[in-house]
Amino acid sequence: MDARPVNEPGFRESVDLMFNRAVSLMELPPGLEEKIRVCNATYTVRFGVRLRGSIHTFTGYRSVHSEHMEPVKGGIRYALTVNQNEVEALAALMTYKCALVETPFGGSKGGLCIDPREYNEHELEQITRRFAYELAKRDLIHPSQNVPAPDMGTGEREMAWIADQYRRMNTTDINANACVTGKPPHAGGIQGRTEATGRGVQYALQEFFRHPEDMVIAGLSGSLDGKRIIVQGLGNVGYHAAKFLSEENGAKITAIIERDGALVDEGGLNVEAVRRWIADHGGVSGYADATYVEDGLSVLENECDILIPAAIEGVINLGNAERIKAPLIIEAANGPVTAGADELLRKKGCVIIPDMYANAGGVTVSYFEWVKNLSHIRFGRMQRRQEEARHQLIVDELERLSKDTGTGWTLSPGFKDKYLRGAGELELVRSGLDDTMRAAYQSMREVWHGRDDVHDLRVAAYIVSIGRVASSYRAKGL
Ligand code: NAD
Repeated sequence: MDARPVNEPGFRESVDLMFNRAVSLMELPPGLEEKIRVCNATYTVRFGVRLRGSIHTFTGYRSVHSEHMEPVKGGIRYALTVNQNEVEALAALMTYKCALVETPFGGSKGGLCIDPREYNEHELEQITRRFAYELAKRDLIHPSQNVPAPDMGTGEREMAWIADQYRRMNTTDINANACVTGKPPHAGGIQGRTEATGRGVQYALQEFFRHPEDMVIAGLSGSLDGKRIIVQGLGNVGYHAAKFLSEENGAKITAIIERDGALVDEGGLNVEAVRRWIADHGGVSGYADATYVEDGLSVLENECDILIPAAIEGVINLGNAERIKAPLIIEAANGPVTAGADELLRKKGCVIIPDMYANAGGVTVSYFEWVKNLSHIRFGRMQRRQEEARHQLIVDELERLSKDTGTGWTLSPGFKDKYLRGAGELELVRSGLDDTMRAAYQSMREVWHGRDDVHDLRVAAYIVSIGRVASSYRAKGL
């Protein structure tokens, strides 16, 4: 799935170009650079499923980019345009992403050439189970070797089918649930995984706005409150990012771009209402409370403070980069800005928060889910009541002091409830994600501002992650 003009390098070449730009600034031993860049293996499978009275053949891929750490990790995408190049580019990005946010995984990615909207739930289950069977029997789904997750066109439901299929094939594996992440909470998943990537986009922007010097580079000031944001793709990632940024940070979602056009409202769109409309009508057209623009792509070029491409790769390319007005782009999707557009936008002074950082919330919470599955216990289960009991001691003591000394001090309304409540799984997941997003931003920022030859966050991100992958290979004696 690629929106770039034909005369531009493809997605994988684009990732390689960005990689090369970073390694040219690093001093890696000869050969290691090539070892890190190349994709280790890509498995292609063609399988048949009997549907509606005849056999349908499907093509799927699972690519392993780097096994410097295992298991390798990366989503499974369902789209008609899935191809080997795309899967390999996405697997490479997973390697760098995992290294940047310090999740102990190598990089992988999978895809199935299918338009999921053409099949009913039962058919999709049959197809998914068969695909999972083909991958699992080659250890391309395995708790300690290769752990998939959702991506475009897949979600909790598909992950639950994959986990169940693996369990059926490995009935005595006590860690079977850890073979895939992004499962529903009632089927071995973790609270906060579905929202995680969008939540991570919010935390990334919050961190960016904590640094006035970085905001100045983008020509921005103040806080997220009132900022005008354009979002492309109101799917899992785009919807959660738009929802949190508008509901919790006071930002205005001034445009939402979907497959069939865009909705524009300078006063701010109601994200929930638009999401419901899309669910009921299959697209944005016909929605009454905003201006509809049929040429959705042109809306990427509208005035705004922040542009969030959260749909597909290659949408900002040499064909439109010159006309993009956003001073800040945060790549919620993988690869939405081509290497050529990246260069052009940088020259114009636009700041780009790169995909490998911006959408790392998903893999971060997947890591928490994998750890939860291996430890067989919900986060917070041991500590929560003990934490609450200790807080209760302090509150009791404060109330006793107030009474005994006759000062008449009282606690602010709501304080007791908030303070006494121990952290449950969702609070812990959000706190771990926030910490991860802050720490990863700091590591990119140190390189961005600390070196004279680094002028943007993407190169900084690659330098940090390639450095970590290289150290890992060196430790293995390579
Ligand atoms: P999704 O399938 O839930 O949503 C994608 C949305 O984009 C849909 O609403 C779809 O209608 C829209 N869309 C598709 N083509 C479009 C086009 N040409 N123009 C405008 N809108 C279009 O997918 P998702 O999980 O939200 O993934 C979106 C992006 O985020 C992908 O690049 C994916 O690789 C990346 N990502 C996802 C996760 C995750 O946890 N789901 C994690 C990291 C990165």
